[in-house]
Amino acid sequence: MLLHHRILNPRLILPIVSFSAPPPRYLQSDHPLLLLLASERRNPASLLTRSHSLSTVAQLAVSAPLEVDAPILPQVADEKDGEPQVQIPLDKLFVPPGVDLAEAASTASGRVLRGSNIVLGPYARDAQVATAEFVKSSTKTEECPTDGLPEFALVGRSNVGKSSLLNSLVRRKRLALTSKKPGKTQCINHFRINDSWYLVDLPGYGYAAAPHEARVNWDEFTKNYFLNRESLVSVFLLIDASIPAKKIDLEYASWLGQNQIPMTLLFTKCDKRKKKKNGGKRPEENVEDFQKLICEYFKEAPPWIMTSSVTNQGREEILLHMAQLRNYWLKH
Ligand code: GDP
Repeated sequence: MLLHHRILNPRLILPIVSFSAPPPRYLQSDHPLLLLLASERRNPASLLTRSHSLSTVAQLAVSAPLEVDAPILPQVADEKDGEPQVQIPLDKLFVPPGVDLAEAASTASGRVLRGSNIVLGPYARDAQVATAEFVKSSTKTEECPTDGLPEFALVGRSNVGKSSLLNSLVRRKRLALTSKKPGKTQCINHFRINDSWYLVDLPGYGYAAAPHEARVNWDEFTKNYFLNRESLVSVFLLIDASIPAKKIDLEYASWLGQNQIPMTLLFTKCDKRKKKKNGGKRPEENVEDFQKLICEYFKEAPPWIMTSSVTNQGREEILLHMAQLRNYWLKH
């Protein structure tokens, strides 16, 4: 079975707590949660923001599963340290495999990674990059390394900021040597990290100047890689958050969803905050729009992280997310 190692997000059966919608019915009664929620309502931003402990939310989850309509994420609560803080309904959180939300919430490790919807669990160890080396370029899945080490593939529209992000992840200026012309270089590039896992650079798609034939080939070989590479833990699909959602990105994300390929969305260029240049929207609004447009293709909300290679926003979060997926994958 080719996909037997793949990690799928466990289904969440949790209450959804919205503070922008009219108060849910239980708030108008003498429900035991009333006082707790009332205190949170005074400061909605405190519900789930930067490194906010999940304990309050999880207590709600454990003691009273409720069904209340929730807004689509993320909602901007306020800005802190120049980065927008978002509020995320519980059903839009990504709970990594091997993590029981209620259990995580009762410990200090139960946190949501900053600028993401990802719950941090106990598998997030050994996240730092100590060594990174280019291993090989392959033109077919069968040519890829056979040592079975877990890997994460980075893919995105050309110019999305993939090389910049890859270099910032490994803290090198020019590790990503792949061609800037995706029509020319159609290779699966493996970089070995800490001698124990791979970052895989795939050629950018949507490059207008690439000949039609090259684009079709590219499509075939990357899809073949996604469907058949057993050691692929998750695809990291890069989306430019400084512009409105593009059709080709939506198609790409929905294809991954329909084929049940584990996917993490990395929203790039989140430092570009000028509304005018961003098609009238801030990055977090473009992030929200993207989520809305793809949600029908996913049973559970895919994990996502807001990033910037200019400010290094999201770097630690990506590495922690990769670490917890990887460590779980290695154990199962
Ligand atoms: P690739 O084609 O996907 O590998 O994209 P690159 O990494 O070469 O980046 C494309 C362009 O976007 C370059 O001009 C980068 O300087 C710029 N860029 C990449 N990442 C960021 C970012 O996080 N913020 C901003 N403001 N610009 C970025």
